Amino acid sequence: MRDIKYIAVHCTAGRQTQTIADLQAEFRRKGWKNPGYHYVVAPDGNITQLLDEDRVSNGVKGFNSVSVNVAYIGGIDSNGKGVDNRTEAQKKALRQLLGNLKKKYPAAVIQGHRDFSPDKNGNGVVDSWERIKECPCFDAKTEYSDL
Ligand SMILES: [Zn+2]
Repeated sequence: MRDIKYIAVHCTAGRQTQTIADLQAEFRRKGWKNPGYHYVVAPDGNITQLLDEDRVSNGVKGFNSVSVNVAYIGGIDSNGKGVDNRTEAQKKALRQLLGNLKKKYPAAVIQGHRDFSPDKNGNGVVDSWERIKECPCFDAKTEYSDL
């Protein structure tokens, strides 16, 4: 078992019509061996597991070894600007999934990608698809503080 310190919440920063196959293709284009998230929640509330929790996904630079990464499909408007466009089904499924993960990893902190401090030792490059300051486009830390 990995020592999980964070349950990180993301948006995929894609359109709500984005499919799991689209996401997987995006990860491959980036040359990633592992997906960006362990779980992805679709607008219809369907949850897809992309990776075993014991394996490391590519969600938060510098924190992946101690994180489980969860994303909802969406997070941008038609102009590509960050927006909280979670559907009711997505909100419900996310809350349930995060609640289950919190039970499994009681010491882990649930927070949004944007709540991680910036990688000050890095080269300062923020990929345009991953708006680190906005992702997941809502205050996950507050919304899930009761879990
Ligand atoms: Zn993110």
